[in-house]
Amino acid sequence: MPELPEVETVCLALSKILNNSEVSNIEIFRKDLRWTINDNLETDLKEKILKKPYRRGKYILIPTSKEHILLFHLGMSGTIKILSGEYKVFKHDHVKIKIETEDNNFFTIVYNDPRRFGYVDFFHISKIKNHFLLKKLGVEPLGKDFTIQYLQKKMYNKSKCVKNFLMDQSIIAGIGNIYASEILYEANISPLRTVDKLNKEHLKSIITATKFILKKSINAGGTSIRNHLQPDGNLGYFVQKLKVYGKNKSKCNKCNNVIVLININNRSTYYCSNCQR
Ligand SMILES: [Zn+2]
Repeated sequence: MPELPEVETVCLALSKILNNSEVSNIEIFRKDLRWTINDNLETDLKEKILKKPYRRGKYILIPTSKEHILLFHLGMSGTIKILSGEYKVFKHDHVKIKIETEDNNFFTIVYNDPRRFGYVDFFHISKIKNHFLLKKLGVEPLGKDFTIQYLQKKMYNKSKCVKNFLMDQSIIAGIGNIYASEILYEANISPLRTVDKLNKEHLKSIITATKFILKKSINAGGTSIRNHLQPDGNLGYFVQKLKVYGKNKSKCNKCNNVIVLININNRSTYYCSNCQR
């Protein structure tokens, strides 16, 4: 599932072609995604000017010159393809948007999603604060509001485990199952530790590890765009150098203990029981 770094990578790729680019055509092949795409999307989006996209949590937001927002959510298996030239529609392509850039180049943006847990929406910017997907999002982990004081406030009187805490989108926006394991490994904190057992030093380690892991992965994503020569133009996933996720039965990089796989809240969780306490 795409998490913050993957979504940021897609945003970065889109920003290379979306900078006052006009929507010349839009085709929707399937509307029943996680939520049904609004019937008006085709007519509303046509001839709109798309400006530089940005990310909020795991959402891609593309403002238009007429104060609307085009939103993409990649769900579990969504990808965005950016293609130039003629494009033949593939299985699971649900939305296809043709754009013309300011310097008269043509590109096709395709939203493909086999499991259809993603979503595409278009709404006036005045609705952004109350949008059902955006209104409850917590702080951006790379932003200045992600502080020890903020975490302490959110932890107050709670006893859930730290991994679930990190993945709670209403507390921190953008961290999912993979990066939660990576962050806690980096911070030497057990995913099973409950938040009432976290002191200031732990919180400091979590904040430092979160920023480090996410930035490192965004950089890896940026590299994948620069080298991105795949003929299918697929974006949204890139090869990451993970240290703990998916490494059960492998030796820990730090201590030679064996990484274990446990289940927390029905999600695979990997950790080193020696380094992470
Ligand atoms: Zn270890």
